[in-house]
Amino acid sequence: MKKVSVLGSTGSIGKKTVDLLLKRKEEYQVEALSTHSNFALLAHQAKLLNVKYVAISDERFYKDLKEGLFGTDIKVEVGAEGLANIAALPVDLSVIAVVGIAGLEPVMHIIESGTKAIALANKESIVCGGELLLRKAKEKNVQIIPIDSEHNAIFQVLQNDDRCVEKIILTASGGPFLNYSLEQLRNVTADQALSHPTWNMGKKISIDSATMMNKVLEIIEAHNLFNIGPNRIEAVVHPESIIHGVVVYKDGFNFAVLAETDMAIPISYALSWPERSALSYKLDLTKQKKLTFQEPDHKRFPALKLSMEVLNSSSPHINSIVLSVANEVAVNEFLKSRISFLEIVKVVESTIESFDSYTNINSLSDIINIDLESRVVAKEIIEYKTLVYS
Ligand code: NDP
Ligand code: MG
Repeated sequence: MKKVSVLGSTGSIGKKTVDLLLKRKEEYQVEALSTHSNFALLAHQAKLLNVKYVAISDERFYKDLKEGLFGTDIKVEVGAEGLANIAALPVDLSVIAVVGIAGLEPVMHIIESGTKAIALANKESIVCGGELLLRKAKEKNVQIIPIDSEHNAIFQVLQNDDRCVEKIILTASGGPFLNYSLEQLRNVTADQALSHPTWNMGKKISIDSATMMNKVLEIIEAHNLFNIGPNRIEAVVHPESIIHGVVVYKDGFNFAVLAETDMAIPISYALSWPERSALSYKLDLTKQKKLTFQEPDHKRFPALKLSMEVLNSSSPHINSIVLSVANEVAVNEFLKSRISFLEIVKVVESTIESFDSYTNINSLSDIINIDLESRVVAKEIIEYKTLVYS
């Protein structure tokens, strides 16, 4: 039996992972699950999967979770420390489905824990952990299997052949506002931004898809994961979301990975790696009326230029952290209707511009300091509306 843990089991990716684990109970022994605040669902999942440990990072719900697990011998961990404790349990595979930079510390603990592989959905930890995270993973011989569909696709192709790669292409659905004019984008609401045309996802990534900041994070994620220069990573809009990623080889061959738009498929791949498991999703090409592709529009989606700006800057790692954190702050403020949709990217640009820390990144605490500092800068920019208009 493969021993697994799932961090962030109550979210969109987490729930799909738990569904797959429930269907394959004879193959996996689930050691631990975690949530931020959703104690009721966590207790339900923990009992169904008969896990040994759970962690709830929001301490206010500790008592509720304990009550929900009354009569079981499931151990409850609490707070950031509790999450770190379950991350430190060695397993065969740990699924990281936490959202935001909150996923970074657990990932770093997992790398140190003796866990063999990480099935990673949390793109922010790769963006912010950068070279430090990947170096530590290599030192400890921890395999990272990306769940993010584009990276999962590229990972699969590169597993077969990583020689003579010219470039990689990440597809983008274009989000709910693909055909909106700049004028229309000025007044879009959070509810509109949350209704994604092809994917059903958590709130933050849905907003990131709408601004196309998701693709910026994904280009940085791909650069870090596959050690490939920013000039060799391309984003192409493909609204049908059937092709997830393409590897272009120097001899003119292009390997594209096609699958239905359901995250259960890459999650299943990561759970089973290096094997494959049968799933009921079958892509019927004859039912696809057409597959279309277009260049992304930088004018309406100004976030897109940021991946090149950040990765070609003199401090790409620091700027990646600042971008990711400022975006997290801005998305939260947009969801509370405190800033407009178009201001999200302005907050990110302005935070990168105003941030003037020149620390070298040698440890997790350096990253945490940049997180805290850039959070303060982003919040001030929002409060005093000191946005940079480029
Ligand atoms: P959700 O918001 O649906 O779920 C996030 C999970 O993380 C929940 O279990 C949540 O707990 C937990 N969580 C939230 N905040 C914290 C915190 N501060 N500390 C610890 N745990 C926390 O997100 P998604 O499932 O959509 O996304 C998860 C990650 O996967 C993101 O990084 C996203 O970019 C990436 N991803 C997601 C895809 C998707 O289809 N959803 C596709 C590709 C990548 P609670 O339920 O209590 O809030
Ligand atoms: Mg993706």
